[in-house]
Amino acid sequence: MEIDAYISLGSNIGDRELNLLRAVAEIGKLPESRVTALSSFYETSPVGNVEQDSFYNAVIRLTTRLEPRKLLMSLLTIESDTFKRTRTIHQGPRRMDLDILIYGNFKINEDDLIVPHPRLSERRFALQPLCEIAGDVVHPLIGKSMSELLANLKSDETVVKL
Ligand code: ADP
Ligand code: MG
Repeated sequence: MEIDAYISLGSNIGDRELNLLRAVAEIGKLPESRVTALSSFYETSPVGNVEQDSFYNAVIRLTTRLEPRKLLMSLLTIESDTFKRTRTIHQGPRRMDLDILIYGNFKINEDDLIVPHPRLSERRFALQPLCEIAGDVVHPLIGKSMSELLANLKSDETVVKL
């Protein structure tokens, strides 16, 4: 069965724009999968208490036959192999962070995989690009569209379209 998954891409180390482009290319090479939509790129202020550079963020739609867990493993492999990401500080700087925001209307709640992404509805840096390509998609747990969630969002994060 083909599913529309939405994946967020974020980078705040190195050439951030090039990193996003490379991540899109790598995700596009995954088996049984096609990138079927790509948001604009955004520059966003970091979340949390770690002092660090601003992020570049984007969201893609991946139309895929990969199971959620297989997709997660593939994304983590891209983080570590292509971007040499090593796990350090939570919410700290990273060359590439790939998160599954939505996987069809699946609800998954396991130790190492939670879908929809638990912080999606409170993160402007994810919701704003997501709305560009999935404004009418309904959040499987909240029952509201992504556009509604964005309109109701109260956060002072700065998110600038590039
Ligand atoms: P964050 O993205 O929250 O800043 P990390 O990228 O360091 O933190 O977290 C990575 C871990 O989060 C992964 O090893 C993965 O098992 C787990 N995880 C749980 N749900 C998801 C999801 N929806 N997308 C990506 N990773 C997830
Ligand atoms: Mg992550």
